Amino acid sequence: MEKLNISSNPILLQNLSILRDAKSTCEQVRIATRQITRCLLFEAAQNLPLVEKELITPIAATTAQIIDPDIKIIVAPILRAGLVFIDEALEILPQAVIRHIGMYRDEETLKPVWYYNKIPTLTEPAEKHYVYVTDPMLATGNSLVESIRLFVDMGIPIENIRAICLLAAPQGVENVKKNFPKLELFMAALDKGLNERGYIVPGMGDAGDRIFNT
Ligand code: URA
Repeated sequence: MEKLNISSNPILLQNLSILRDAKSTCEQVRIATRQITRCLLFEAAQNLPLVEKELITPIAATTAQIIDPDIKIIVAPILRAGLVFIDEALEILPQAVIRHIGMYRDEETLKPVWYYNKIPTLTEPAEKHYVYVTDPMLATGNSLVESIRLFVDMGIPIENIRAICLLAAPQGVENVKKNFPKLELFMAALDKGLNERGYIVPGMGDAGDRIFNT
């Protein structure tokens, strides 16, 4: 799948080993997740449009490039584990707005259930929006598909929407690909599959619990 970006960055892979290790503390998992977010977001943000800016260095006048100030960048964490991306994302892209997506996974059906959706209507043309949906564990893919649909239904071009995950299962990737063939996905690793409880194998366990120490 050409739209699947699996990082081979050594810094990311070293941090991934910390996430996977059941012996890692919550603090270690959080720090490692921040490092991985940094690597993945730098890759994912390559689609942001640039404009030229004239400036003067201490030596001479020059033309620099900056992210187009007229676009609107949205980082959309799927609650709750998706929140772990936010601090780092805001440091990298301080101009971004955060749009929380409240969904939990019904443990019986594995289907997403909405409990919070406060995405305001767009005030700028849809094509000026660039969205990064953050979902650490792409397991069945149902929550991610629902979230992407929310932004697509607002008219935002699928080319402007990207998903960032820590780990994914092939079933989740297939689900997303079937629904949105043009969506680009960025992840640290594609794992073997899901166990009978819908957890990614080998995965990292319950991402929310490991990150938030619950
Ligand atoms: N959610 C998690 O937190 N972990 C998994 O392995 C799958 C879904």
